[in-house]
Amino acid sequence: MRFATVIRHDDVSAQTKQQIMQVLIQHGWLYDEKTPDFVISIGGDGTMLEAFQQYQAILATVKFIAIHTGSLGFYTDWKIEELDELLTAMVAEEYTTVGFPVLAIELDGECGPCSYLALNELTISDPAKTLKIEVQIDGEHFETFRGTGLCVSTPSGSTGYNKSLGGALIHPRVEAFQMTEIASINNKVYRTIGSPMIFYKKQYIDLHVEYSNSVTVTYDHLVHDCLAVTTIRCHLHEYKAQFARFKKRPFWERVNNSFI
Ligand code: NAD
Repeated sequence: MRFATVIRHDDVSAQTKQQIMQVLIQHGWLYDEKTPDFVISIGGDGTMLEAFQQYQAILATVKFIAIHTGSLGFYTDWKIEELDELLTAMVAEEYTTVGFPVLAIELDGECGPCSYLALNELTISDPAKTLKIEVQIDGEHFETFRGTGLCVSTPSGSTGYNKSLGGALIHPRVEAFQMTEIASINNKVYRTIGSPMIFYKKQYIDLHVEYSNSVTVTYDHLVHDCLAVTTIRCHLHEYKAQFARFKKRPFWERVNNSFI
C-alpha cells in the first residue's frame, strides 16, 4: 500500500507523522506523495481540508484518514491515544469506505474561467458593499439576492460555516447541496427567500454577480485570487471524497458530541 501524510505544523503532529511512518514502512507500506492509496491528515478539520485540496486530482482512487492532534473535529476520527489501534487496523486492512459528496465550482470573471472543488463549502461575499446576485436554479431565474453574500455547502460541510448561518445539518450520505444566505437585505425593494435551500444531486445553481468588482470567493479554507468575479456555477461533483473507516462513528453522534 502507498500512503502520504498532510500535517498541521506543530510538534505533536510532526511526532505523530514519524510514528506512523515507522510502523507502516516496517509493514511494507511505501511513502508516496504522488499516487497514494491513503492520505492521512494529522491535525484538525483545516488539515483535512488541506489534504482534500492537495489530492483532489486523484479523488477517484484515494482514501482519506483523519487524525486529530487538537480538539475533536468533524472529519477527524482518531485521537492520538488511539494511534496504535488505528495502525493495527490499517496494517490488517480492516476498513470500509464511506463517500462524502463534493461541490464542483466553475467560475468566470476578469481573470478568466477556472474551476475548484470544495469538501465543505463555497462562499461569495463582499464585507464592505452589498452584493447583488441573480440566483438561477437549473438555468431559470429564482431570485435577486442583495446582502453580504451566499454560502453553498456540501452535506459534510453543513456542520461548518453553513451551521453558523442557520443552515440545516445534512447527513453526508444524502446526495445534495445547500445554499444559505449571509445577511440578506429584505425590504420593499429587495426580497429573498430567506430560508436555506437544499438541491438534489442533478441540479445546478448559477450565481450572476451584478455591480461589484470587490467580491471575495472562498472554497473551503482557500480564497480565489481575483475580486472581479461575474458568474459562479455550483453542482455536485461526479466523485465523492472517500474516507476509510476503521470503526463506527455515526454522523449524528459526531453532531451530538460536538454541539450538544
Ligand atoms: P480549522 O481546523 O481551524 O477549522 C475552523 C473551525 O471550523 C474548527 O472548529 C473546525 O473544527 C470547524 N470545522 C471545519 N470544517 C467543519 C465541518 N465540516 N464541520 C464542523 N466543523 C468544521 O481550519 P480552517 O482552515 O479555519 O477551516 C476552514 C473552515 O472553517 C471553512 O471551510 C468553514 O466551514 C469554517 N468557517 C466557519 C466560519 C463560521 O462558522 N463563522 C467562518 C469561516 C470559516
